[in-house]
Amino acid sequence: MAQRKPFELGGVKVAPGSRATIDLPVMDLSIHAPLSMPVHVVHGRRDGPVLFVCAALHGDEINGVEIIRRIMQLTALKRMSGTLVAVPIVNLFGFLAGSRYLPDRRDLNRSFPGSETGSLSGRLADMFLSEIVSKTNYGIDLHTGAIHRTNFPQVRADLDDAETAELGAAFGVPVVINAGLREGSLRASAGKLGVRVLVYEAGEALRFDETCIRAGVTGVVKVMRKLGMVPARHGRNRAVEPLTIRNSRWERAATSGILRAAVELGETVRKGDRLGAISDPFGENEVAVIARFDGVVIGRATLPVVNEGDALFHIGLYEGTKASADALDAFEPDIAYDSGATAELAAEPPIV
Ligand SMILES: [Zn+2]
Repeated sequence: MAQRKPFELGGVKVAPGSRATIDLPVMDLSIHAPLSMPVHVVHGRRDGPVLFVCAALHGDEINGVEIIRRIMQLTALKRMSGTLVAVPIVNLFGFLAGSRYLPDRRDLNRSFPGSETGSLSGRLADMFLSEIVSKTNYGIDLHTGAIHRTNFPQVRADLDDAETAELGAAFGVPVVINAGLREGSLRASAGKLGVRVLVYEAGEALRFDETCIRAGVTGVVKVMRKLGMVPARHGRNRAVEPLTIRNSRWERAATSGILRAAVELGETVRKGDRLGAISDPFGENEVAVIARFDGVVIGRATLPVVNEGDALFHIGLYEGTKASADALDAFEPDIAYDSGATAELAAEPPIV
């Protein structure tokens, strides 16, 4: 068999069967110091797809940083086919500042494809796209909810593309959401380059969530298995059909006050159910938050102090008949640590 070519990134050649951390130059900072983006490349000995996994595109969304750290420990990478390009921190500026945005107050995930001569965010987007994404075939972009909002572990992807839909189901979290390609997003620009991207959304900004991290690690491994990058497991293929959601709505606060939530993430709700109550600090005036739809709680606010109009509960709509509503009731979200995907990580102490 012909030897694979080295994988080249930022002028560094990574030989087949080896791995390397590369500091990709980004720009000079105002403090007279260069800024570089740390990228870890695992270049398998055998041919296979090139997959990028990235996190902290929004600088305060840090669950994915820990997901990548754990993936880097896996011994399966030694026998991997294809190439894994891991970028734990894409929005370097936002990560340092604990902020979703960049110093130019733009959202990096609305700045793609960007350009070499554009805004700060546009330049970072252009660099990430041309130096990394364009050299890959697939991508997994790791996110969390925004500040004071948490998401039930979910994959967002373009389900109208059959291969993307298959990879989304392979990730193995209970909810997969059909998400069109939003202009300016990494996913849309990668798609135009022919790179299929899944977005994994779980947990809350600026916080670690052990369940979300574990579901993310096993999800990435399962996608790599689906792509043939790591060997399939024998006799253990209990793939759970995820719940597919094509529409969602936020239930908002009808009044300002203190919210007491009555439903958890992943819980199924029926139209008319009481999701929570908003009262004043004396409890004299109380307004119930009522579900307007049948669905599953895919996200919610974590801050109990709310203003009129605030988004409180994100409901993934389960449209259709009585039969589909029954199927929803039978649906038991199981996001416990999947030792079947990464048994060796069982010894990893949980973050509490
Ligand atoms: Zn995000």
